[in-house]
Formats: sequence, C-alpha cells, structure tokens
Amino acid sequence: MRLQEYQGKELFRRVGIPVVEGKVALTPAEAEEIARELGGSVVIKAQVLVGGRGKAGGIKLAQTPQQARTHAETILAMTIKGERVRKVLVTKAVEIEREFYLSVTVDRAAKKPIMIFSPEGGIDIEELAKTFPEKIIKFHVDPLIGLQAYQVRTALYQAQIEPTLIRPMSEIFFKLYQAFVQYRAQLVEINPLALADGKLIAIDSKFIIDDDDVPTELAGWEEEELAGSAEERAAKQAGLQYVKLDGTIGIIGNGAGLVMATLDVVALKGGRPANFLDIGGGANAEMMKKALEIVLADPNVHGLFINIFGGITRCDEVARGLVAAQRELGIRVPMVVRLTGTNEFEGRQILEAHGITPVTDMEEGAAEIVRQVITNKNTV
Ligand code: GDP
Ligand code: MN
Repeated sequence: MRLQEYQGKELFRRVGIPVVEGKVALTPAEAEEIARELGGSVVIKAQVLVGGRGKAGGIKLAQTPQQARTHAETILAMTIKGERVRKVLVTKAVEIEREFYLSVTVDRAAKKPIMIFSPEGGIDIEELAKTFPEKIIKFHVDPLIGLQAYQVRTALYQAQIEPTLIRPMSEIFFKLYQAFVQYRAQLVEINPLALADGKLIAIDSKFIIDDDDVPTELAGWEEEELAGSAEERAAKQAGLQYVKLDGTIGIIGNGAGLVMATLDVVALKGGRPANFLDIGGGANAEMMKKALEIVLADPNVHGLFINIFGGITRCDEVARGLVAAQRELGIRVPMVVRLTGTNEFEGRQILEAHGITPVTDMEEGAAEIVRQVITNKNTV
C-alpha cells in the first residue's frame, strides 16, 4: 500500500525526521482556516498517490488565506492522472536553499536494502539517473547488522557535502533507515530533502508498505483513503454502504449482492454506474431519502435506478422515502424504480399517486434508465 504525502510525513515525524508544519483540508474553507493558523504564505498540495503533482498543477503557492482558499478550490476539483483529488495538504511555505534526494528501497537482485542519495534532489530520480548518473550515490545495507556510520560518512564525502551538514544529514540517513525497517516499507523516499534556513527538512514523502506485512500501527490507513470523499463519509455516518464510481447512472438497492448485480445489468445494457449504494436490509423511509441525497450530490449523475427487492425491507417504506425525497430534494434527473416483494402493492400505490410508475423486472428497469439517460444526453 502506498501512503499519501501527509501520512508519510506523520511517520517521518514519529521517527524524528523534521517535516514542514501543515495540516490536511477537505474543503476550501478548511484550507483557508489552516492557512490563517499557520500564518504567512503557504503551499497547497494535492494528496494523490500518483507522481508529478507539481507539473499537473496540483501544487500551488498562496500568499494569503483567501488565496489558499481559491487554490484549494481549484486543486480539490482536479483529477490528476485519473485520481480524483479529495484532500489537500496545507503547509508553511519554506525558502529552499538546496534540494537533496534520499531513499531506501529493496534491491531484489542483491536481496538487500539499498540506500540512494543525491545532492541534486527535487527532480524525478529516474530523470536524474539519465541526466546525471554520477550524481547518484548508492550502497547496500546488510539487513542483519543495519546501517553503519562509515557507510553514511563515505556517501556524504563522495557527494562532497559540506562539513557542517554531515552530522544532521547522517541523522536523517539513520532515521529514514529506521522508518524503512519499522514500517516494513518496500520504499521510503524524501524528495526533496531541503536545506531551508540552515536546517534539513522533508518537503515531500513517499512510502510503499508491504501489503502482506502492514504494521498494526498502520491498520486502516488505506481504508481512510478509500473512504475519503465527502459522499462516502456522509454515507458511512448514515449507515449506508456507498462506493463512488465514474459513470452517470446513480444506483440504489438493498443488499450488496443485488446492488452488484444491478451494476452489472446496467453495464450490460450500455450504461455506466455512478456508484454502488446498498441501503441494507430493513431500510426505512429516512434511509431511502438519505441515500438519494448522497447519490444526487454527485454532479455526474444523469439518471437514477432504484432496485428494491422487498424482504425485511418493506416496499411501502421505500416508496414513502422516495416520495419525501422527491418533494424535498426536487429530483431533476430521470428515475426508474423497480419494486418487488414485501408490501409491493402498497408501495406501488404510493408511487403511482405521485406520478412514478415502478417496473417489476430488473433487466427491463436497467434498459429503461439507460435509454432515458442516453436520450436525454442526445437532446442536450
Ligand atoms: P511532487 O511534485 O509530487 O514530487 O511534490 P513535492 O512536494 O516534491 O514538490 C515539488 C516541488 O515543489 C519541490 O521539489 C519544491 O521545489 C517545490 N516546493 C514544494 N513545497 C515548497 C515550499 O514550501 N517552498 C518552495 N520554495 N518550494 C516548494
Ligand atoms: Mn516530490
């Protein structure tokens, strides 16, 4: 599993590697607030697992809290190399004098950890390897005896690091190696490790942790990422299982198996599901309403397919929730409802009294919503 920059920096902090002060924001307002707390100019950084954020416009300098807000707004709306930005890290902007590169990874051929250092950090290491291969210093570490002081000294002399930096730089070598071992990493990287105000400080972090050996301390760190969107958190709070997808047809059903089957049938009919949402067994009108609210919050949703198989869940309850949601939320996209099972007759009556005609067949319902969404699009 890969960690986000802010998570990696938290681990750096735990082993004593200095990092730039900062906090994560989920909204532009939060970013503004953090910028105000930090004071001075700040850097707004997209938290995504793909590289090259800077080039993609995912890192911006803000001089004022207001500017932090507008930059956060722009960055939070971005998708970088297919990854939607859900969080930004707001850090104090630092005056960088020099940038170094430092990492530890596994050299599979040698079956040993390898430490890589360069006095020319900041840029991509693969790029650096092509342009200045002589500026990259590498050495293996014996996993049984660990990193040795003479190895670090040799690397630093070889890189012609000035005497005043030898001691603080060595400390960072040891702490990074410790992080590598302690968190069972496959890769830990600081790029850039900056010299700012005479001190060394990590500006960025990269961590890849062995999926088969995740330390208990980091249990749930990946889930936190997956459940990061505002919709997903709202769903969790309401006791609904929601997973955002990238299509245009919002899906609500009861029971994970039924919802998964619904996604398949919609895809089979040529549609693209916008989400997975399971309202669970025994859902009531209130939960149905909440579910609609969450699905409709996604601007990509151009149609809704509600697929309810009444068992413990009663169709009349679901129908009441739908009608209430329609009245309160004003559903503006086409909607197809498939309703069958417990109290089906009562449910149909409620819906029909409000101008909604439910279908009883799932395939027919899926075909119908796909047709309506596509027709709608063609007429726009
Ligand atoms: P990456 O592009 O995803 O690797 O993101 P980084 O966090 O490494 O940032 C990219 C580059 O932005 C760094 O190499 C720095 O040159 C620059 N940068 C990031 N934060 C700061 C900052 O606080 N001050 C200055 N001057 N530059 C920064
Ligand atoms: Mn970087």
